[in-house]
This record gives sequence, structure tokens and C-alpha cells, in this order.
Amino acid sequence: MNINENTKNQFSETMKYNELTNAEKRVILFKETERPFSGELLNNKKDGTYVCKQCDAPLFRSSDKFDSQCGWPSFDDEIDGAIKRVNDADGIRTEIICLNCGAHLGHLFLNEGFTSKQIRYCVNSISLKFIPNIKNTLKKAYFASGCFWGTEYFFMKAPGVTRTQVGFMGGNVENPTYEQVCQKNTGHFECTEVEYDPKITSYEEMLKLFFETHDFTQTDGQGPDIGPQYQSCIFYSSQEEKQVAEKYINILIKMGYDVATILKPTSVFWEAEDYHQEYYKHKGGRPYCHNYKKIFIM
Ligand SMILES: [Zn+2]
Repeated sequence: MNINENTKNQFSETMKYNELTNAEKRVILFKETERPFSGELLNNKKDGTYVCKQCDAPLFRSSDKFDSQCGWPSFDDEIDGAIKRVNDADGIRTEIICLNCGAHLGHLFLNEGFTSKQIRYCVNSISLKFIPNIKNTLKKAYFASGCFWGTEYFFMKAPGVTRTQVGFMGGNVENPTYEQVCQKNTGHFECTEVEYDPKITSYEEMLKLFFETHDFTQTDGQGPDIGPQYQSCIFYSSQEEKQVAEKYINILIKMGYDVATILKPTSVFWEAEDYHQEYYKHKGGRPYCHNYKKIFIM
């Protein structure tokens, strides 16, 4: 059986791995479950990375951890390709193991409604080790410029950008679906969350890319996508960001553009469904609605 094979491989290679205590072995090797609300990392809210207790492979990011009240650390995403899903011996649940070493982590649950991703990696605290970010200097910026597939396409390739996600912002419905936003009455914009490293790039660079990759003079949407959810909008997280955005809008106005971009304060970012994420990376091709056009000289 699949699981036993994994376990066997893992036992035969234990030499390379961290030595485990008996309590750790019970969960990691023999797939027991720790008592709920007993784990050290259950309420950990620090920034950092959760790695495999046995082999140190990075498994989860702190930004994907959420409080499910279930008694075990819960995440709604994994570090890409870190986790293997297998059928649990109980024949019902999906077990999750470390792809690298086969360590038992916990189980996977779907469609419980906790977060927009509708997925919960329910992980034994004892299977994890937490590595805090010494100093999390990464920043996030939020842009709406029409179809978020196209917006993300350019941002995910930009120097200094460490991660992008697409979702919805600015509306009045909790956890909206794409279908709901398409009804044009939730108030949401299709929005891209851009995580960047300010040591390598800057908010100004992000703003320039935003303006240079869509038609910010269009008032009724973007390209062929018509509707309020496609309106050009900068969501600012601070007065400083707002001022920089206004500076660039004024530069564009002086250049003769009729800028339709609006400014709004950030609100909850609801991640869109998985199939919208990094759309062009998975599907290939280029955006139908966005092009790069150089505007700013510096
Ligand atoms: Zn591992």
C-alpha cells in the first residue's frame, strides 16, 4: 500500500533526518494525532515559515495560517509542491505528508467555509518547526486594472516581486465568488495583491508598472471587459502610498492624460478561486487585455 511504502522509505533514510523524540515519533512516524489545543504552534502568529520537524523542508507560510478553532494549526495553502496527499488508512480522510521525507503532518479538509480558498491543512503542531523571519521587510501593494489575470501577468514577472495573488477588494459581500463579482453589484474590484521586497524595488516602481500595463484613461472598465469590477483603482495601505499615487496621477495629468484611476483605502482582500491564480503561467499565452507601454522615463 502506498502509505506503507512511504513509511518504509522514510524509515530506511532516517539517518539523514533530525532525530525525533518519542512523542514526535508517535505522530510523525506512526501517524497518531496530538491532543487538540495542546500544540506549541497552535496560537503562534509570528511571521515566518513552518518547516518539517523531521527533514526541515519548508511546508507552510505564516501568512497562510488561520484560526479555525479546531485545536490544531490550520493553513489554507502550502508552499508549492511541499505536501503529498494520500488516502488515509481510515478510507475516508485525506492524509497529508511531507513530500520530501514522508513525515505524517495531518489531514486535509475541503469546503468548510473558513477562508476563500475553502481548504484546511489541519496539521499536528508537533510535526512542524517554526522558523521566524528575523525581519519581515516584504511589503504588499494592491492594484486593480481590469481582468486580474492580465494585471498579475505583469506583476508576477517584475523584479523584486516575491509573490502575487489575485482576488477581490472594495466590496460589501464577505468572501465573494468570481460569479458573484461578475454580477457587478457586490462593489468589488478584481484586484492583484503584489508582495515585493523594498530592498530590491519600491512602491513607485510598482505604481509605474501599474500605469504602464493598462489603459488608465478608460472609465467603464478595461479593454473589452466592461463593468465596475474592471475599473482602474489603486488601493493604498497608508497615507504615504496615497501621496505617491497622487504624485504619479498628477505627472500623468501634466503629460496630457485623462486619468480615470481612482484611489481607495485597502479593505479585506478576498483571494479568488485557485484557477484564477497565476492564470497565464498555467495556461500559457499572453493577456488579451493588457500590454506593456513605456510612459515614465526614469
Ligand atoms: Zn519532511
